Amino acid sequence: MDHFNYRNGTLHAEDVPLSEIASAVGTPVYVYSTATLRRHYKVFTDAFAGARASVFYAVKANSNLAVLKTLGDMGAGADVVSEGELRRALAAGIPPSRIVFSGVGKTAEELIFALDTGILEINVESVNELELLNTVAGERGKVAEIAIRVNPDVDAKTHHKISTGKKENKFGIDIAYALDIFKRAQAMPNLAPVTVAAHIGSQLTDLEPYRAAFQRLADLVRELRAEGIPIHRVDLGGGLGVPYAGETPPLPDAYAAVAREIIEPLDVEMLFEPGRMIVGNAGILLAKVLFVKQGESRRFVVVDAAMNDLIRPAMYDGYHGLKPVIERPEGTPMSPADIVGPICESGDTFAKERPLPLLNDGELVAFTTAGAYGAVMASTYNSRPLVPEVLVDGDRFAVIRPRQTYEEMLGADRIPDWLSGPGEQAVPKLAGMSG
Ligand SMILES: *Cc1c(COP(=O)(O)O)cnc(C)c1O
Repeated sequence: MDHFNYRNGTLHAEDVPLSEIASAVGTPVYVYSTATLRRHYKVFTDAFAGARASVFYAVKANSNLAVLKTLGDMGAGADVVSEGELRRALAAGIPPSRIVFSGVGKTAEELIFALDTGILEINVESVNELELLNTVAGERGKVAEIAIRVNPDVDAKTHHKISTGKKENKFGIDIAYALDIFKRAQAMPNLAPVTVAAHIGSQLTDLEPYRAAFQRLADLVRELRAEGIPIHRVDLGGGLGVPYAGETPPLPDAYAAVAREIIEPLDVEMLFEPGRMIVGNAGILLAKVLFVKQGESRRFVVVDAAMNDLIRPAMYDGYHGLKPVIERPEGTPMSPADIVGPICESGDTFAKERPLPLLNDGELVAFTTAGAYGAVMASTYNSRPLVPEVLVDGDRFAVIRPRQTYEEMLGADRIPDWLSGPGEQAVPKLAGMSG
């Protein structure tokens, strides 16, 4: 369920016509719906009503400060994977006690920053990281509460680039070695291993991989307790899918039922790290049709958004629906079209042979379900300024990240002394440009 609907023939975000946002901010632009963000967060937390459960929103799905603040104000914690994300969560007002730090390659500097901030726990993914964390915690006279992320070796049955819980994936510690590694952590003076963690992949559309993984985690918790390691939290990761193209991912209630059935008997606090499920359907990418090109055998619709703005189709074969902002009457004839961006790569293709009505040069279109892994993965490839973001709330909207200007983009580069003649400036002057 989202709040992007046609009203009086125009696609709206909540009460705001998308054409109004395009006029004010230009295109391409990401547009997010507050009501949808809130609804998804609430559906997820309601599914765990009465359970000892807390939600740590996976910041990497969409890390805009306004999105983080919207969720943080509702009580969400944050699952971060870098110091940058940790700083974002703090800047959005999420307290350290509601932040966990995941990731397979944290630096010493990042670990120190997390320790000094006093976050809830650090999710450790290797023996080397255990040793490093024990050392830096010791130097600061601290005992760090940690989770150890195990790799339960289950097939999440998702795209290979977002599957993370199989033996051959780089994440976590092979569950077969988990007992041994928990014991080593327990013996380290500056670590307190209190949590078993896992995250088996993203865009899961089936409960069975979860059931298998949760069962393995529960068995591990019993084994660890029998060895005197006092586990009191289990972090079950994220990964619940969203419908991009008619998939039917499990509803949060069904997912919660499986988690509760398997984990609640352990009498632990359950931690969840949903990302995509919260923000995916809460965002669209609004773009403009530049040209419709009729080839001999194919219709190409060239839009002003490109793979640098939304990389999911190129990177994960991701599907995004496409809706014209001006509604077409029912029964409008459809014919196949390729939707492509302006970038000099054949991979800059959003859709192939998609049935679409006739589209006109200059008209607005919306790529749906673009709130997760959209703006956060944007780049300036082809020297296209970073795409802006807008947040809608009812009948108002605000720019929550302005479009990058050409000055900002070019001004980030430096020309070394040896390339500038005497008296010339190291930073080039930009002639006749405005944002
Ligand atoms: C990416 C990630 C998540 C969130 O995954 P979604 O599919 O967006 O729910 C949660 N936990 C960890 C450790 C992650 O890396």
